[in-house]
Amino acid sequence: MTTTAPRPQTAAPAAGREPLEQVRRLVTEVPGPRSRALQERRLAAVSKGVGSTLPVFVERAEGAVLRDVDGNQLIDLGAGIAVVNVGHAQPRVVERVQQQVADFTHTCFMVTPYEEYVAVCEALVRLAPVEGPAKAALFNTGSEAVENAVKIARHATGRDAVVVFDHAYHGRTNLTMAMTAKAMPYKKGFGPFAGEVYRAPMSYPFRDPEGMTGEQAAQRAIRVIESQVGADQVACVVIEPVQGEGGFIEPAPGFLPALAAWCRENGALFVADEVQTGFARTGDVFACEREGVRPDLVTIAKGVAGGLPLAGVVGRADAMDAVHSGGLGGTYGGNPVACAAALGALEAMADLDLTGAALAIQERMTARLRALQAQRPGIGDVRGRGAMLAIEVVRTDGGAATLEPDAAGAAAISAACHAAGVVTLTCGTFGNVLRFLPPLTIEPALLDDALDVLETAVLSALAG
Ligand SMILES: *Cc1c(COP(=O)(O)O)cnc(C)c1O
Repeated sequence: MTTTAPRPQTAAPAAGREPLEQVRRLVTEVPGPRSRALQERRLAAVSKGVGSTLPVFVERAEGAVLRDVDGNQLIDLGAGIAVVNVGHAQPRVVERVQQQVADFTHTCFMVTPYEEYVAVCEALVRLAPVEGPAKAALFNTGSEAVENAVKIARHATGRDAVVVFDHAYHGRTNLTMAMTAKAMPYKKGFGPFAGEVYRAPMSYPFRDPEGMTGEQAAQRAIRVIESQVGADQVACVVIEPVQGEGGFIEPAPGFLPALAAWCRENGALFVADEVQTGFARTGDVFACEREGVRPDLVTIAKGVAGGLPLAGVVGRADAMDAVHSGGLGGTYGGNPVACAAALGALEAMADLDLTGAALAIQERMTARLRALQAQRPGIGDVRGRGAMLAIEVVRTDGGAATLEPDAAGAAAISAACHAAGVVTLTCGTFGNVLRFLPPLTIEPALLDDALDVLETAVLSALAG
């Protein structure tokens, strides 16, 4: 198979450590006895409100391998939910973090600033596909970035209304819960929610009427916005260029450009929530670059800092400067250790050509996933971009796919992968989507091994 990029380098361990061999290896059942004992302690001390996909307790991680407390080595196809794009224990991240921890860990940028924060903002300003001069501000989590983008948009426009989409995921804080679509588990019983949040229909090619173009889907959304919100009320339209938790839904081509154009014509800000899609994940540094869309604001988090908590908003300088001094911030926002990690992760992204690596993963994986789809019609859709790929599992009727979601099928496949030592995640409004988010540095042989496991799981879980 040809790949579009040179093979990315593996993580090298920090000085004096044995490298963690990039292979899957099971020495106990999964989870093993030590993980089960820790799970007992966890259930006694940790709130049940916090769940885990796979109760395997991790002792060490490097590259695309997690080693658990029982000595099992698992292949990580989740990357901590699209966070360690640069691989676990990426040496450039480890070195900078260790140095920064020794230098200082916190002053609060709002009290006495430091260079690392500025350097991260400079990098974001350089990378973000924003038209004209740009500026940035740093926070801790994706939810916080989205909240701050809304604050900025409201100041910049003097308007209140926020438009979001079906299947959207923007976080779990009060405002972002209102913006997130799915009730269970994110919203149920947690209201009342923030006001002035309106939902428009998304472009969802697998479920939209056959042949509906992105333009048509955008007009469908715009009709809802104009009739139910009013064009002159909209502060911002917030959208994930490829939806994440909602099911890895890639809108039809033309959808995002048409929405961005509508925003421009109507004085609303177009906000790309690139928290999950950002930092080379989709084969571009930011997913909205693919169609040349230039957002007014971009929210970032997950992949920016190689696993440390860091988030930000980067956008048009006039909008970013619309807020009064002191109106944005937070005690830990742009923490120096997280900023040092980000500088290492951004360096790795460029040096290791991780956008090229994401495209190579796409090529390698989609070929296998499509071959599986040909054998199992319950794989209704194979989709995604770069190393953000998914299969949507549906019921079949007479050997043909229907649109009826099969969450149990997706769960069975995922459980079989977990038992065999491959960490997979599910997602989707209907819970029937299996998503794949490997670290972009994953070695081809390791990825192939994970795909072999997935193939066995799919063939046994779904009917032929
Ligand atoms: C994960 C995610 C968020 C929320 O990020 P947190 O860091 O969990 O608060 C927001 N938007 C998108 C698109 C995400 O994927």
